[in-house]
Amino acid sequence: MRKNIVAGNWKMNLEYEQGVSLFSEIVNMAKDEVIGAQEVVVCSPAIHLSSIAKLSSGVANVHVGAQNIHQAESGAYTGEISASQVKSVGAEYVILGHSERRAFFKETDALLADKTNAALKHQLNPIFCIGETKEERESGSFFDVIKTQLEAGLFHLSATEFAQVVLAYEPVWAIGTGLTASPEQAQEVHAFIRATVAEKYGEAVADDTSILYGGSCNPSNAESLFSQKDIDGGLIGGASLKSRDFLDIVKVFN
Ligand code: PGA
Repeated sequence: MRKNIVAGNWKMNLEYEQGVSLFSEIVNMAKDEVIGAQEVVVCSPAIHLSSIAKLSSGVANVHVGAQNIHQAESGAYTGEISASQVKSVGAEYVILGHSERRAFFKETDALLADKTNAALKHQLNPIFCIGETKEERESGSFFDVIKTQLEAGLFHLSATEFAQVVLAYEPVWAIGTGLTASPEQAQEVHAFIRATVAEKYGEAVADDTSILYGGSCNPSNAESLFSQKDIDGGLIGGASLKSRDFLDIVKVFN
């Protein structure tokens, strides 16, 4: 059975002490409260990873992840971080293909396919982001865009490899804008993603794939989104920077 997952994406926010203190709050709340979601993941900037991974060790269901990796094993790539380095501090996830990386850092589907291979080689679970821009939504081409992102980024994987991947549908027009996809709009795309995965890997793999929604998800709209049949949790940006808001989203699954 697929898992419910709520993942926070801190993006380029929080200095070291601030990140450690936010994560400590999350962990303490998660120890005291019934958290519902089967996995809680915090994807922090690289500077926090080692410390927060230590804080999460032994806390059931709370994990940490990076927001990006380089596709190479190691070497002369000044400023970059490899999958094995991320893994070595105790992280278990990595966000790949976030729309900000695609847009600002020109990450292509082919590059993301390489990064996915690097992540899987080192037992990091990719949280692989796909989603259309406002123009693509308005022109009606969004199903094609999403299908291409899946095919070019992921469909070279074997079924066993694909089973390690978490998908995140993040309509670009909903990220950080306060504009959330309606539960029906999101469900329509999630169902399409699952059907596309089923065509490639079969129904069983598609049924077991967690597909998260991301884009202005907050404590007031999380419940209506997560109650949709093909929405298995969220990738949370802004609202993951406040421990109470983040935990309230996690607790939707109670
Ligand atoms: P948001 O960001 O929740 O602030 O819209 C989501 C994301 O970019 O992952």
